[in-house]
Amino acid sequence: MRIARNLADAVGKTPLIRLTAASEATGCDIYGKAEFLNPGQSVKDRAALSIINDAVARGTLQPGGTIVEGTAGNTGIGLALVGASMGYKTVIVIPETQSEEKKEMIRLAGAELVQVPAAPYRNPNNYVRYSGRLAEKLAATLPNGAIWANQFDNVANRQAHIDTTGPEVWEQTGGKVDGFICAAGSGGTVAGMGAYLQPNGVKVGLADPMGAALHSYYTTGELKSEGGSITEGIGQGRITANLEGFTPDMSFQIPDTEALPIVFDLLRHEGLCMGGSTGINIAGAIRMAREMGPGHTIVTILCDYGTRYASKLYNPDFLRSKDLPVPDWMTEDSADIP
Ligand code: PMP
Repeated sequence: MRIARNLADAVGKTPLIRLTAASEATGCDIYGKAEFLNPGQSVKDRAALSIINDAVARGTLQPGGTIVEGTAGNTGIGLALVGASMGYKTVIVIPETQSEEKKEMIRLAGAELVQVPAAPYRNPNNYVRYSGRLAEKLAATLPNGAIWANQFDNVANRQAHIDTTGPEVWEQTGGKVDGFICAAGSGGTVAGMGAYLQPNGVKVGLADPMGAALHSYYTTGELKSEGGSITEGIGQGRITANLEGFTPDMSFQIPDTEALPIVFDLLRHEGLCMGGSTGINIAGAIRMAREMGPGHTIVTILCDYGTRYASKLYNPDFLRSKDLPVPDWMTEDSADIP
């Protein structure tokens, strides 16, 4: 146990948690890196901190300056909290389809929240492209300047995982790790882990939700997507700068009907309340374990905390509206306790 000097110093150094059901089902040791234990309750705190530190080192982010970003939510929470602790203002552009809980957290952290309709990247009003233009405008008008964090194409994001997450996993497992797998939003996590772990002989896999184009790209060379997913923060349709130079050793496409029962069982039987992308990750780890065979050690990411999705993933009405199965326990009345 140690004392963190400030919030930034409390980012990372998360435990690995053995996932009992996934391990028992496959005969492998499947571990989840507990990124939900970061101060902003997600893996994106690492990218937020790395992007801020990089901009300060380059001299583009000035004292009292403003950080602008387009985000599905978690990067916004990370930037707002780390930014607040370092004296920076934040302006966050988010697609209005993301969970209210994430939007509320961004507002509470003091960021200015700009909601835009969900639109594909090719649309100029897509949240990422909108945030880039807004950053340019604010940089020209605000007295202390503004920067665009640009998590998708700013490789300081990937660098966070090369510098911290990768070495942590290597050290925690004593180098006894055979596989790593996760989904991609910006691609920073999977490509950063690939850059660190693949040269060490670790197979790195991609778990892609329906509606994303990366699985198709890595298996056929074509960016094509079909279907959709209720998971948030993942599902990329293009090769971002963070993904450039990365090639997964394996790639799997995971439907929500495979991922969500894992998330629900995790809460009821392992006490882990996670968001939907974690379900895609663990389903991917199970598929990787089956491909590799029993006796291997596989690590994945427990991306963010589930209370962030109380109104969606853990809401029976929402699940029904998406034609997804609702677990019995979610609708059962609690027992009468005298
Ligand atoms: N899961 C969640 C819940 C996220 O918010 C994100 C990032 N948007 C990811 C996974 C994917 O992380 P990365 O951006 O590093 O690919």
